[in-house]
Amino acid sequence: MNEIRTPALASRLPAVGTTIFTVMSALSTEHGAVNLGQGFPDFDCDPALVRCVAGAMEQGHNQYPPMAGLPALRQAVADKMGALYGHRYDPASEITITAGATQAILTAVLCCVHPGDEVIVLEPCYDSYVPNIELAGGRVVRVALTPGSFRPDFDKIAAAIGPETRAIIVNTPHNPGAAVWTRAEMQRLADLLAGTEVLLIADEVYEHMVYDGAPHVSAASIPELAARAFVVSSFGKTYHVTGWKVGYVAAPAALTAEFRKVHQFNVFTVNTPVQHGLAQYMADPRPYLDLPAFYQRKRDRFRAGLARTRLRPLPCEGTYFQGVDYSAVSPLPEAEFCKWLTREIGVAAVPLSAFYEGGFEQGIARLCFAKRDATLDQALQRLAGI
Ligand code: PMP
Ligand code: GLN
Repeated sequence: MNEIRTPALASRLPAVGTTIFTVMSALSTEHGAVNLGQGFPDFDCDPALVRCVAGAMEQGHNQYPPMAGLPALRQAVADKMGALYGHRYDPASEITITAGATQAILTAVLCCVHPGDEVIVLEPCYDSYVPNIELAGGRVVRVALTPGSFRPDFDKIAAAIGPETRAIIVNTPHNPGAAVWTRAEMQRLADLLAGTEVLLIADEVYEHMVYDGAPHVSAASIPELAARAFVVSSFGKTYHVTGWKVGYVAAPAALTAEFRKVHQFNVFTVNTPVQHGLAQYMADPRPYLDLPAFYQRKRDRFRAGLARTRLRPLPCEGTYFQGVDYSAVSPLPEAEFCKWLTREIGVAAVPLSAFYEGGFEQGIARLCFAKRDATLDQALQRLAGI
């Protein structure tokens, strides 16, 4: 009789383990630490948004929605992008609702990258990009952002573009570096890509978290970029509902058509009542227009507290992440330092090395300030002791 056994598997992602966010959140829970590691708010969303979604469920909006997303929500996204970025996307053929930005980026990569194609990522980069490209059979080409400032180095980007380059992934505002690309930088990117066949995947999930009066310069707002871009965003970030996993992609009709071919066999459709609730809630622009002030106040409170510690806060132009240089406190490598901080000091952080291939070390940890003031104060009190 044959023995019963599970067939062996050759991994599609041999280098990948559990994400750093999951690892640090688990360690944080284990040690009862204040979790400033994984990026998510510890406060609730607007009760009015919950009522919109609950109302949609009660009204029976509980079956499959249209494959590309609820027309009313696509219209609301198109209206918002038109008003803020000056580009009119056709909601019927150019906007698709996705299961968060994660699925949007994976689907964009899968629909355009063929085996052997090169895709440029700017390091440090969000942890899903590289595995996404590898799953598509693409070749990852890493270009370093300028150390310290995390600004794009256009000479390096230009040198990385070649005949095999299919796409570049740009993230502004940037996780984990908290830099926000200026209009001049976005225009420079447009000039670099002009005349090439390179597509742009613009990860703009922190579009409404830009501080000190600066604008978010969306790829949608630069016509030469909009013509070659999948512009990705996430309701999870904007409305404090990271667990709902709903986002969207705006792209020219020809790109959207290919995107939807993959999307329909990837998730097919996205949560119906949440889409109804979001469409209704989006009628009022104030929640996203007020977001920069809301988070800037938290950023400033957190940075003022950090100034009283031996951690040195790096610039934070956008996102809800604050980098800190801990070299005055510890010689430990970043992952070790973050584990020590979680276990011994009771504050969970994420090592920047997790966003680089081969774990580049620069003595920086990332802290998330999307937290209640009391949570931030408690973390600051603990950090003041090191
Ligand atoms: N891109 C970046 C830069 C992010 O920080 C996140 C949030 N984890 C995502 C994409 C994924 O967003 P979502 O939770 O909507 O999938
Ligand atoms: N985007 C969040 C972060 O950077 C969390 C994402 C996740 O847990 N996968 O921390």
